[in-house]
Amino acid sequence: MVASVLVELPTKNIDRLFDYQIPPQLEEKIKIGVRVEVPFSSRKLEGFVLAIKDSSSVELKEIIAVIEEEITLNEELLSLGKYIKKETLSPLISCYQVMLPKALKAKKGTQIHKKYETYYRLNEKIEFIPNSTQKKILDCFLNQEVVSRKKLMEISPSSLKTLLTKQALIPLQKESYRLSYEKKEDIKPPLTEDQQKVVRTVEKEGAKTYLLWGVTGSGKTEVYMELIEQALKKGKTSIVLVPEISLTPQMIERFSKRFGNQIAALHSALSDGERYDEWRRIYRGEAKIVIGARSAVFAPFQNIGMIIVDEEHSDSYKQEDSTPHYSAIDIAKKRAEYHHCPVILGSATPSLDSFARALKKRYHLLVLPNRVHKQALPEVTIVDMNQEMKKSHSYFSRVLLEKINETFNRGEQVILLLNRRGYASFVTCKNCGYTMKCPHCDITLTYHKTSSVLRCHYCGYATKVQDSCPHCHEKSLSNLGMGTQKIEEDLKKIFPERKILRMDIDTTSKKGMHRKMIESFKNHEYDLLLGTQIVAKGLDFENVTLVGVINADTSLNIPDFRSSENTFDLLLQVAGRSGRSHKKGEVIIQTFNPNHYAIADVKNHDYYKFYQQEMQIRKQLKYPPYYYLVYIKLSSKDYTLLEKEALKIKKSLEKYLHHTIILGPSPAYVFKVKDTYRYGIILKYQQEEALYDTLQRLEEHYKSQKLIKVDINLNPIHF
Ligand code: ADP
Ligand code: ZN
Repeated sequence: MVASVLVELPTKNIDRLFDYQIPPQLEEKIKIGVRVEVPFSSRKLEGFVLAIKDSSSVELKEIIAVIEEEITLNEELLSLGKYIKKETLSPLISCYQVMLPKALKAKKGTQIHKKYETYYRLNEKIEFIPNSTQKKILDCFLNQEVVSRKKLMEISPSSLKTLLTKQALIPLQKESYRLSYEKKEDIKPPLTEDQQKVVRTVEKEGAKTYLLWGVTGSGKTEVYMELIEQALKKGKTSIVLVPEISLTPQMIERFSKRFGNQIAALHSALSDGERYDEWRRIYRGEAKIVIGARSAVFAPFQNIGMIIVDEEHSDSYKQEDSTPHYSAIDIAKKRAEYHHCPVILGSATPSLDSFARALKKRYHLLVLPNRVHKQALPEVTIVDMNQEMKKSHSYFSRVLLEKINETFNRGEQVILLLNRRGYASFVTCKNCGYTMKCPHCDITLTYHKTSSVLRCHYCGYATKVQDSCPHCHEKSLSNLGMGTQKIEEDLKKIFPERKILRMDIDTTSKKGMHRKMIESFKNHEYDLLLGTQIVAKGLDFENVTLVGVINADTSLNIPDFRSSENTFDLLLQVAGRSGRSHKKGEVIIQTFNPNHYAIADVKNHDYYKFYQQEMQIRKQLKYPPYYYLVYIKLSSKDYTLLEKEALKIKKSLEKYLHHTIILGPSPAYVFKVKDTYRYGIILKYQQEEALYDTLQRLEEHYKSQKLIKVDINLNPIHF
């Protein structure tokens, strides 16, 4: 027998199929979709078996081994890979690799071992009359065939020993997993009428894509759990996607409380061993519900009954930094089509794209307009920092400090957000808040320190940094900069009696810290939680009644056409952490742009108004969802070659694409990385028949070139 193997060639992202002989000892294990090790010139490489044939006319080398025989790509995933290849113009091999976690790859020297644990079963042949503690041990076997040593030791080590010497129990080794989830007494609240309506609609309408638009604290998570429970009752599995940042211990806790060991959680805080175990529980069908970030959409479940994408607007669902540039939402829809199951896209601030589809009835719109107990949404105050800075020269406004103090005095807690996105790469006027923008693109200019130039990364426009503000003519242009650490120090000086907890990448990187911090804040061991985006999402603390945003604007200044949308989302999300239970909540937003609609619309929690305003701008400037975008990134160590090829590519695109706006080539946002220069070409189009063929030819032409790399990203998030 002969196997066709798609071989993973090191450093080359191209597809090559090679035939190998299947040695007799592997015949049983070699199936389509299995990962194998094969000889390749003088090396050993990995690959996937894609076909099995009877014979070959030429002499072939033999397959060396099967890597992790349990873990294969099934028929659905094999054809899904082909779909991704087509949609993203990526090599098939990269589409298969992305489906399996890195921890499962057989990197030499980092083999992960399975863990084993001792279990016992009853020896039916031995009969005797047990004493009372011995009976307690034997009773454990009434409902279970095998019981772990750990559990029996907890009852009585000495009785266990006696039973073993009597040979009443037979030991065996069983594989154990590094993680387990304890099902706890979970008081399931009766669903509100709105929640019930949502659940009933999904039941009735079945396999469709739904957009669940629910304000923060409207009980979306509770709806997800109900829908999953119904899928479970039908013997079906579920996938829940959550952005990494909101995959908090709180979220996992809620699911594990209700579903216990039926869940598997996949997130970046897992060790390789833990991840390995979680994946195997999924493959084996022991877990029925996966909660995870983007790549969990590939969970190799059979019989999927429900797919949920929480915070569907999050840009983390698109893989931007490596090939294939896939969107987990597209994959979710594709898988749902295969399994005939619903997909629920949930958010308090749906992406413009999804909301537009819902309004066009391409998605079924479900709405949760109120908080669970019909609590009012928190009252939002917007503080104009242009005025404040003149008076206090501090980044804390007086009203924010006053409110913090009042909240402390009521025995309630505060969350403070430092908006780190887009921090300090732009130039702002300290006097009037003016930010330098591109005259052609409505995008903030990026400050290049080395050359003292402000540049537009969309069209290439550049201007020298001036020392006075073009708006108010004061000599007060600067790139702002302050970290959470500095703010923490200042807060401690202002409120020496109070306990301040800082949560950011630095303080949560140690394993288990994130969970511990959340627990101790919940137990009111701290009065104030200060942090970056990490505090904005997915947290549910009933005693938090004040949320403060120190700098709402920074994310407005990112050179990205979605910066308004991202800012609005973030502010509305973080505002949603306030007053979630029975106490009234408040929000203070500090900004230099109090009249910008992305900030002003937060005041009334008015998503729909924001949506309409933003859609108008997108239409005018020809951005999504009115136009589709493609970003073509060119990179090379040879600057002259890069420039020449970039122009050549643009010329050839112009020749074939007649209904497309072609922008650039212009230097990328990060122009030089590790001595490699990067250029970008942006395509905007509504309908372009020739697009796929043209891009495919471009990809084909450059994929084996060494000196210049071309990366094509359809529907990009970042440029
Ligand atoms: P969202 O995901 O929309 O932000 P959650 O599902 O986290 O909302 O619900 C907000 C809070 O309300 C949570 O503490 C949750 O336990 C509680 N909750 C949700 N649904 C109900 C209900 N039907 N009855 C009582 N409490 C509920
Ligand atoms: Zn521009």
